[in-house]
Amino acid sequence: MRTPDDWRSTLPVRLSAGLPAHGWRTRFAPAPTGYLHLGHLVNALHVWGIARAFGGAVVLRIEDHDRTRCRPEYEQALLDDLEWLGLAPDVYDLSSFRDDSDTHPARQSNQDARYRAALDRLEERRLVYPCRCTRRDIAQVVPHRPGEEPRYPGTCRHVGVPAEETFARRVRLDDAPFSFVDLRLGALTQTPQQQCGDLLARDRHAQWTYQFAVVVDDITHDIDVVIRGEDLLASTGRQLQLASLLGRTRDIRFLHHTLLVHPDGSKLSKATHDTSLREMRAAGLRADELLGEAARRAGLATVDRLDANDVASLFAGS
Ligand code: GLU
Repeated sequence: MRTPDDWRSTLPVRLSAGLPAHGWRTRFAPAPTGYLHLGHLVNALHVWGIARAFGGAVVLRIEDHDRTRCRPEYEQALLDDLEWLGLAPDVYDLSSFRDDSDTHPARQSNQDARYRAALDRLEERRLVYPCRCTRRDIAQVVPHRPGEEPRYPGTCRHVGVPAEETFARRVRLDDAPFSFVDLRLGALTQTPQQQCGDLLARDRHAQWTYQFAVVVDDITHDIDVVIRGEDLLASTGRQLQLASLLGRTRDIRFLHHTLLVHPDGSKLSKATHDTSLREMRAAGLRADELLGEAARRAGLATVDRLDANDVASLFAGS
């Protein structure tokens, strides 16, 4: 098991040196597609812990852009879980979401106008084109193994698909490498055009994609530091490229933390009931025991219990 000292010793620079000075913003951005589990709690500990230790503010954002998988009851449940844990956001408090189901500025399903305006700006610069390819079409042209990301080969890039034929829109990405410094992993370079090809911003069902929505929202919410699991590491270059096309000038930093896995190495998921916070709470665990368990399993502390008011201690001296 990793220990707090292992964690600190692998950082390329101290967090205190790599983070902006006081008054910066990070975000906790769960998708309400199921109940929160221990993996989310590990992310929350990094987000709140680093923010509290180094003068940042936590924005809560509900990432429910996927209408087919997200449900209001999961949003209610995650608000209740955060309240029970004692993890209070600094921007958009929990009650603001409970009181506003239609126009909340940090709930993605309420932001159609915001995303449309961003797409319009790119369209004016001829950076957007309609795309009629389905996943199956792409898989036929670009064979890939399950779990592997297919690179969109640009089939509709020069075809001139009529706009009325489909809602799907792609953003042209040029073939440029994007470099960034991850606060845990050091300097990295990704070439999004080689990884994923032109980026899908809206799909044929008129749903905004995660990649598009998250970039527009991180700009809107003035996010300075993105703290998330390393399963999203491959998305970072394309999000930086899109942010630059959208005119983002504010500096943004990233920290991708390790993920919790089951003893057999498989990823935790919302379908994994043994780690759902709800069920652990129902089984009699207290909030400080759950926070302690998440901190231990992430290698951030060796404590049995952790009070939500003490999450900064996990990163003090880092
Ligand atoms: N909504 C994403 C998730 O639940 C997190 C997005 C992000 O941190 O960029 O995994």
